[in-house]
Amino acid sequence: MRKKRKQSRERKPDRGRSGASVKARRRVLLEPEHLLDTLMDTAPAFIYFKDAEGRFLRINRALAGLYGLKDPADAIGKSDFDFYPAEDAARFHNDEQEIIRTGRPIVAKEERGTYPDGRVVWNTTTKMPIRAPDGRIVGTFGISHDVTALKTTEKALAEHANLLKTLMDNVPDSIYFKDARSRFTYISRAQARMFGLDDPSQAVGKTDSDFFAPEHAEAALNDEQLVMRTGRPIVAKEEKETFPDGSVRWASTTKLPLRDKDDRIIGTFGISRDITAVKRAEERLAYQAFYDPLTNLPNRALCMDRLEHLFRRAQRPGSNPFAVLYLDVDRFKEVNDSLGHQAGDQMLVTIARRLEVCMRPGDTVARLGGDEFTVVLEQIHDVSDALHVAERVQSGVSAPIALGGVEVFTTVSIGIALSAPAYEKPGEMLRDADTAMYRAKAIGKGRHEVFDATMHERAVTLLRIKSELGHGLDRGEFEVFYQPMVAVAGRRVLGFEALVRWRHPQRGLLAPCDFLPLAEETGLIVPMGYHVLRQACRWTSGWQQRYPSEPPLRISVNLSSRQILDKELITTLRQILAETTLNPACLTLEVAEQTILGNAHALAATLAELRALSVKLHIDDFGTCYSSLGRIRDMQVDAVKMDRSFVEAMQKSSEHAELVRAIVTLTRKLGLDVTAAGVETAEQLVRLQELKCASVQGFYFAVPLDAGSAEQFLARSRSGKTS
Ligand code: C2E
Ligand code: MG
Repeated sequence: MRKKRKQSRERKPDRGRSGASVKARRRVLLEPEHLLDTLMDTAPAFIYFKDAEGRFLRINRALAGLYGLKDPADAIGKSDFDFYPAEDAARFHNDEQEIIRTGRPIVAKEERGTYPDGRVVWNTTTKMPIRAPDGRIVGTFGISHDVTALKTTEKALAEHANLLKTLMDNVPDSIYFKDARSRFTYISRAQARMFGLDDPSQAVGKTDSDFFAPEHAEAALNDEQLVMRTGRPIVAKEEKETFPDGSVRWASTTKLPLRDKDDRIIGTFGISRDITAVKRAEERLAYQAFYDPLTNLPNRALCMDRLEHLFRRAQRPGSNPFAVLYLDVDRFKEVNDSLGHQAGDQMLVTIARRLEVCMRPGDTVARLGGDEFTVVLEQIHDVSDALHVAERVQSGVSAPIALGGVEVFTTVSIGIALSAPAYEKPGEMLRDADTAMYRAKAIGKGRHEVFDATMHERAVTLLRIKSELGHGLDRGEFEVFYQPMVAVAGRRVLGFEALVRWRHPQRGLLAPCDFLPLAEETGLIVPMGYHVLRQACRWTSGWQQRYPSEPPLRISVNLSSRQILDKELITTLRQILAETTLNPACLTLEVAEQTILGNAHALAATLAELRALSVKLHIDDFGTCYSSLGRIRDMQVDAVKMDRSFVEAMQKSSEHAELVRAIVTLTRKLGLDVTAAGVETAEQLVRLQELKCASVQGFYFAVPLDAGSAEQFLARSRSGKTS
């Protein structure tokens, strides 16, 4: 300072009187007293001087203000006890006494105190001894700063840091902070766990490429650079994260720019939530929406989707035709009913796998539901391609399937529809393939048919009939006709076979083939069958009374598989027999050969109850199923009715005649009676008589007759006038 002053004096020449006053003023300014005053009144601090007893010698304006004094001089002689709570004042006093005793200053001590106005504050105080010229300590002086604001900020920061740490340690989501070069600066514990780290700090300085597969790391880096460049966040982006070991995690990630206090972007931070479970559930749902859970084949929805695609493609010129094959497993219901649903399911899965083997790449096999499948042939040249696939499917499916120790032979009926400009929607094509399939089934199982327009008309008629069946039953439109069964020897009427007819109000008298398959399908066969049984028993009981004979007149009633498997069969049968007073021993139930053998297990109890009731059981259509006679014997039936195809073929060749002879001889050896069905001519009757066939039935004697005509026939027979 002194040197500076000297220099300025040298540079500036003396300015006479005015120079002298400046000098004087400068002298005043440099008085220590003045300098101290200036320091004390302008420093942003509380400053005081105290004597050795702690009494104020002097305080600055700031401190006077704090003490509520107008003039700092008013503090002189007072002590901290006059201004602070006793506890604080005592502490200050002790500190000062310590300084006086030891001479050691207290530097930048942080302490909490209460101001005279009641505010609780933090101060940093430095206290020093005041020494007399001889070195004795005669008092203390101190400078103190109010650091309350700083303290509050510090505390808030610590609290925030603590909150952030708690958050980062406990949230289940992955949270990260990255610098401008996408290096981790901080990650949450959940993210550390995901990275396989023991501690989040281990990630610091690393990048995504240290933890993820390269493609994901690169994508993440690009995203972060975009966020940094644009300042715009990426919100809830769903991404598939792949790890180096190939494992995959789905995450919903939000990335935001990280800014400094001047709002400059210095990095990014992000939060990402593991949504793998949600994604998997979504995938499962999507799969379930388009795939059949049993066979894992595409379902109806996906099949329709493929067809839609082909329909769109067909709009383009020069596109190839395509075809739909509609498949239905023959006699699936029998397997399901007799071997159980598990076996049924197993059969469907086996068929599904066999169908897949038969396909060409690009073709779609789908399961529509139940035992129905479709094959969509994407590219064919003409119908022969579709027929070829149908044949391949039929032979591929026909190998025996082992189900719970039983070998089951199965076939499929296939309907084929070819693409045509007339089709507007895939549903129409599927409908026609379905119609053709029904036709194939009606002709005989294990066949295929290509759709044509007449089938459609037929299908429409069938549909109408189906809806009318229920009403027909309610309105009593079903009648029972009776066809006589005659003893070969003596030509006596032994009984009748009850055959149902539908007297349709518009179509007239309908034969069973026009409505029975539909009644079977809808289940109406069961109530309809009980109606036939009741009528037949009632009429027979009446005829027995009006035309007594020995043995008494018998009645045969046909039962389909659905009827004989009906749980109420025995109860209802007892009820009908009691109601119509028919002797159970005069009732015969005719069940088709395949129904009995196909359901042997399920029927065992029912057959035993029938025997207990003395109701007879006959095998209908015998010979159509190539079943072994041994199995027939095991079923303990009473008689067989030889299918009329044998009688018809009998005269065609000597081999056929031999076959009939063999059937009659063998069944008689097993102790079973044989009735021959479909006798139309006198020659047939003679041959059957030679073969020792006991009873016959056929147009030669009578067609099925309504009850009145049947009674007349019986009356004539009893009076010895049968043809
Ligand atoms: P089914 O039990 O084999 O009945 C004999 C069928 O052969 C009858 O046909 C009868 O009219 C016909 N028929 C009889 N004699 C001759 C003949 O000499 N030549 C020819 N060509 N046919 C002859 P229908 O009445 O049309 O019955 C067909 C089938 O419908 C029956 O075959 C039977 O399986 C079923 N069915 C008829 N009524 C009932 C019923 O009430 N319940 C059940 N579940 N099925 C029935
Ligand atoms: Mg019959």
